[in-house]
Amino acid sequence: MNINFTPEQLVFREEVRSFIAARLPADIRDRLRQGHLPNKSDTITWQRILAECGWSAPHWPREYGGAALGQAERLILLDELYRAPAPLPQIFNINMLGPVLMKFGTPQQCAFFLPKLVNLDLWFCQGFSEPGAGSDLASLRTAARRDGDCYVVNGQKTWTSTAQWADWIFALVRTNPEARKQAGISFLLIDLNTPGITVRPVRSIDGTDHVNEVFFEDVKVPITNLVGQENQGWECAKFLLANERTGIANVGLCQERLELAREMARVGGLTEDGGLWKELAVLDAEIRALELTNYRFLLTPSQQAALPAFASVLKLKGTEIQQELHLLLAKLAGDGGLEQPPSAEHGPHLVQRYFFSRALSIYGGTSEIQKDILARSILA
Ligand SMILES: Cc1cc2nc3c(=O)[nH]c(=O)nc-3n(C[C@H](O)[C@H](O)[C@H](O)COP(=O)(O)OP(=O)(O)OC[C@H]3O[C@@H](n4cnc5c(N)ncnc54)[C@H](O)[C@@H]3O)c2cc1C
Repeated sequence: MNINFTPEQLVFREEVRSFIAARLPADIRDRLRQGHLPNKSDTITWQRILAECGWSAPHWPREYGGAALGQAERLILLDELYRAPAPLPQIFNINMLGPVLMKFGTPQQCAFFLPKLVNLDLWFCQGFSEPGAGSDLASLRTAARRDGDCYVVNGQKTWTSTAQWADWIFALVRTNPEARKQAGISFLLIDLNTPGITVRPVRSIDGTDHVNEVFFEDVKVPITNLVGQENQGWECAKFLLANERTGIANVGLCQERLELAREMARVGGLTEDGGLWKELAVLDAEIRALELTNYRFLLTPSQQAALPAFASVLKLKGTEIQQELHLLLAKLAGDGGLEQPPSAEHGPHLVQRYFFSRALSIYGGTSEIQKDILARSILA
């Protein structure tokens, strides 16, 4: 089976490739190729370049600074960014908060925040998980008590990615402790410079401070920062999480990492290593199958309606393939991968990335939860 792109879509892919070749700064490309995750400045620099043609928010309407791309074009853009490799548009701003504001926000919230999200003038992070509320998110306890024109927020978020770089956080808070779990939650936008907030980095196994704990102690948040209705925040959260399917399989990233593995095998003089090339061939076949499945599901609304749990297949399989690839790359890095401090070569960064890849089966819904969803959909 092939993916039948229209002639216009093939032209669009070429346009994206040429744009990336001409405009992506070489130092950003090189760092990502070595295995680094994009840093804050990489993401801001590149997002502002993409914003020139609306591609920093590819699926948003043009009136808000997007490019109003269809699903196929959005996937093509994503694949090409991964393959370059280039940073993706900042996920919390573009994929999560922007669409929530367009659906549930006030005109004032849209007018103030959306242009700043597109251009990364404000960096948002996601404050959903708490100690004791991850997979079972509705158990969250961070409380927001109404006091005049403000909410007073107390509690703690955890595993908050990029909070150390962020200006604001969008958070789920409990506004009615008496109501059924999901019914008493609200969706708040909180300026991280407000007094009473402490951001504490958590050092992870890869040696980075990518995730954080965020503490709230009597933090005053204007009621105008409530998104949607009070106690209806679960609707925003469900919309946000269900919306996020397009990048879930990370096909372009898998293709780029596979190509790097092949290159390292060749440069490392391993062309005669039959076992290695067999492993690479199996991964290649798996990635192709993932790509076809991804396009088939995402481009066919009837399949999405009939099989909503299929998104779990994409997350699960995409995660497994990425973890295998990162492990293979760490092995290819060999002894050099264990050098400390890291040398300029990619080895150590690939090992670091392998360690970080262990988190793929945790964030965005753990692999066990995806299997639960699939099992329930099969039994239904
Ligand atoms: C690197 C990283 C970045 C993250 N970034 C963010 C972020 O920016 N913002 C944010 O809000 N959160 C973030 N998270 C949190 C992430 O969403 C949670 O870690 C995830 O939802 C799992 O929740 P938990 O850690 O509380 O584990 P738990 O939910 O306590 O799960 C523990 C174990 O039990 C299993 N388990 C739980 N329930 C079931 C079940 N019903 N059936 C079978 N098995 C089950 C899980 O699969 C897991 O193996 C991040 C996490 C990581 C690792």
